[in-house]
Amino acid sequence: MGLPLTSSLLGMDREEITALVSEANEPGYRAKQIMDAVYRQRVETLAEISTLPQGFRERLAESGVTVGAARIEKKFVSVDGTVRYLIAFADGQSVETVWMPEGDGGEAGDGSEAGAEAEPGQSTSGAEARSEKDEPIAALKRCATQSPSPTPSSRPYAGRASSGRSTICISSQVGCAVDCQFCLTALLGVKRNLTAGEIVGQVCAVLKDQHVAPPEDRINLVFMGMGEPFLNYENFIKTARLLVEGVGIAERRMTVSTAGIVPRIRDFGGEAIRPKLAISLNASNDALRTRLMPVNKKWTLEMLMAAAREFPLRTREWITFEYVLLGGVNDTPENAREVAELLRGLRCKVNLIALNPGPGIDFTTPSAERVTAFQKILRDSGIPAFVRRPRGRDIYAACGQLKRTVEVATSPELQLQAIALSPPEG
Ligand code: SAH
Repeated sequence: MGLPLTSSLLGMDREEITALVSEANEPGYRAKQIMDAVYRQRVETLAEISTLPQGFRERLAESGVTVGAARIEKKFVSVDGTVRYLIAFADGQSVETVWMPEGDGGEAGDGSEAGAEAEPGQSTSGAEARSEKDEPIAALKRCATQSPSPTPSSRPYAGRASSGRSTICISSQVGCAVDCQFCLTALLGVKRNLTAGEIVGQVCAVLKDQHVAPPEDRINLVFMGMGEPFLNYENFIKTARLLVEGVGIAERRMTVSTAGIVPRIRDFGGEAIRPKLAISLNASNDALRTRLMPVNKKWTLEMLMAAAREFPLRTREWITFEYVLLGGVNDTPENAREVAELLRGLRCKVNLIALNPGPGIDFTTPSAERVTAFQKILRDSGIPAFVRRPRGRDIYAACGQLKRTVEVATSPELQLQAIALSPPEG
């Protein structure tokens, strides 16, 4: 059939699957059957594509075509219901994908659609204290070794009713090259880009494991896991299209977050199909931002803010700015006033995230009062600002904690014993 030696259906778009079907001299409607099987039914093997004749399936297999489904290697369940998945690919590399069942507390960068937005003034450390107090450690340990539950084929979407505001957080690279000083993923360095099939495969694997199916179930999706999506731009944008046309997740339910890769922000604004934009600001002036996010040396705040101001927003769309608050570092009233100045006049909102701690991260989580004071200054300047509830900190599923941590033990201080699968790389 003139195909490459191995090629996976997952990651192919309608045109590529149509080409595959026509090369095999099969009728055109087979392309839709394959699209439906891979992205809607989320089959894992060619044998499961029962709409195709056996002979065609065999010829596909002989030419090295596979579905290329992602494999859930481990699953950790938090006391707050968040689930962290370790997802493995054919070459043995793995990434993390997070399921947040009751919305994301603003993590999507869009409280109104993502659902559970933190109330103004809600204390992040208060939420943390609660989850620490109630932690069923034994259950966590059990979950850490639990294997993924198989989807019962007779009742594939049993979780539908409870999934109205769920969010999936997906990874775009194995590790990350951006080197933000407060982020655990940065300690891994970057191993490689994920293919579009590997990115969309995370979504398919999680939907299947959670027994939910868009568009019937409202699923929000954030490109906020491991990696910098805009440093894997082509695969990221192809994934976004596959999620819309294949899986059935609407553009407005997806948000991509970037550390500030300015030329790609501009490219992104010109895409016909695109998620919403979130920018990790994290500092209020260049000196501070360069210290916390070395990427700021190349693309300064001035360049970043110019790209944000020129970004072509759609109706009722705004840019989200994420701001990780680091105790005594970027959380002063003066910092808040500088942020308000930077964002003045922009159609935007700010998500404040109190640092999620981790081993090797030399910053502290600010007090709830400090967070609220920062928020108040922004709000008093007319900028919508929300405090994001930390999700799944106990299982290392929260923002900035994704580091392929395979063992989770808990203590009230969250001084956890974390054993990474591979040692940090340069
Ligand atoms: N590379 C992209 C997406 C991944 S990071 C980006 O930088 O936006 C997703 C979000 O997590 C970013 O807003 C980042 O600033 C935040 N983050 C990173 N480390 C964190 C930590 N330790 N605590 C809280 N948020 C963190």
